[in-house]
Amino acid sequence: MSSKLFINGRWEESSCTRHIDVVNPATGEFVTTVPDSDSTDVDRAVAAARTSFEKKTWRGMPASKRERILWTFGDLLSKHSPELSALITQENGKTLKESAGADVAPAADCFRYYAGWVRKIYGETIPVDGPFLNYTLREPVGVVGAIVPWNFPLQIAAWKVAPALACGCSVVLKPSELTPLNALRLAEIGMEAGLPEGVLNVVTGYGATTGEFLALHEDVDKISFTGSVQTARKLLQSSSVSNLKRLSLELGGKSPNIIFPDADMDAAVKASMWGIFGGKGEVCSAASRLLVHQDAHDTFLDALTTKARKLRVGSPLDASTHIGSQISGRQLDRILDYIESGKQEGAQVLTGGERDTEGDKANGFFVKPTIFSGVKPEMRIAREEIFGPVLCAIPFRDADDAIRIANGTVYGLAAGIWTRDVSLAHRLAGELRAGSVWVNTYNAFDSGSPFGGYKQSGFGRDLGPHALEQYTSVKSVWVAL
Ligand code: NAD
Repeated sequence: MSSKLFINGRWEESSCTRHIDVVNPATGEFVTTVPDSDSTDVDRAVAAARTSFEKKTWRGMPASKRERILWTFGDLLSKHSPELSALITQENGKTLKESAGADVAPAADCFRYYAGWVRKIYGETIPVDGPFLNYTLREPVGVVGAIVPWNFPLQIAAWKVAPALACGCSVVLKPSELTPLNALRLAEIGMEAGLPEGVLNVVTGYGATTGEFLALHEDVDKISFTGSVQTARKLLQSSSVSNLKRLSLELGGKSPNIIFPDADMDAAVKASMWGIFGGKGEVCSAASRLLVHQDAHDTFLDALTTKARKLRVGSPLDASTHIGSQISGRQLDRILDYIESGKQEGAQVLTGGERDTEGDKANGFFVKPTIFSGVKPEMRIAREEIFGPVLCAIPFRDADDAIRIANGTVYGLAAGIWTRDVSLAHRLAGELRAGSVWVNTYNAFDSGSPFGGYKQSGFGRDLGPHALEQYTSVKSVWVAL
């Protein structure tokens, strides 16, 4: 049992009375426990961050040195990739290949990308009327609380920690209660890279306890959050009843992937499959609604279903596995409940449609990759985020019909467009209400390109230069000449 937290650059004993079991979802095996940090723990972590901020141990350091430390941080994540990937797979149930390629590698790149920004964050001079020199200073916002989910635990932590540090902020990171171990290791690696103590702290715990203590804290200047819409609503409340701290929210999705009949069908089938079954469908930008033109509908679904039936569900440690275990029993039940509701509302299961309990899989939380056809936009499975390997196929008549169905959602995270018609692709890219639009590809990411939603998929923007605005304040200075 571990009762330690990472505060002020070292392992510190938690004062909590409750602990959380960390369980390997693929095997059901108990791994360890972590503290459900109480308000005293959160106070200590915030105080450590505040002290480092006020003493300027990090933000006052020469910029070139901070740049080197963030670069080294990224390099150390790459160096420790086998260990970190094993940790993520153990906590999350995704395959080792996914942990290394879609969690650790982009996290490392994110630190290197923001290392490059450290020396490029500066203000402007403004040609104001009158005998004045007017200029802006871009200052770090202060102490940032980063609250992250379990699906890409290390990558999303990096999306917040790296730009916050590049801007000179100090951070208290709260990982999901389901995947805390990689975050604790992240902070340790940050110290190895050369971060001063107190600049990156980690408190583990549930959302309703540790998360809320952080969200309500009077000395936290900003919360950067990725997770569900329900939690986002609570964070807005917590901010409003405390110090009106800044918020950035990146939330859920029900992203449409739109296939026109002139598309490169092989490429579209392949991308549609990985767009929903990659990461076991527990992906915010999952291509969970497949909109197929009526002329291509049956052929496309035949090809997709044939391919999906060949996917191997199994141990995430086995190199031949395509789909690992869902994160938890709760998530499994949620997914199965949606599958049931789809069947009851009259959608047809083309493949999957049930839990996979073959052999050792009975001890974990595995779901067969599932494709529904005959889905109507008003069905629950077409409207709500399932967050599992469940695809809903919906036919459309023409481009206007596709846009109407695609935008008929409370979400607006991402969208895919498959066509060889360049004007059609640009028209849809403009009209789809989504933060990321992929044309003839799906789930393309780069540290330099913004990612984030519209509407109930959130606001704020992670990645790219835009994220720096979240962690800086602009001060206008007037000097009489
Ligand atoms: P969640 O909202 O349940 O939890 C996210 C984090 O918030 C966890 O650390 C949790 O402990 C904490 N939390 C929960 N309640 C809290 C409260 N009252 N106060 C403070 N913190 C609280 O989400 P999840 O189940 O971990 O993640 C899945 C969701 O995240 C999905 O909706 C998915 O689409 C979304 N997501 C979005 C993005 C994106 O970039 N837009 C990326 C990944 C995941």
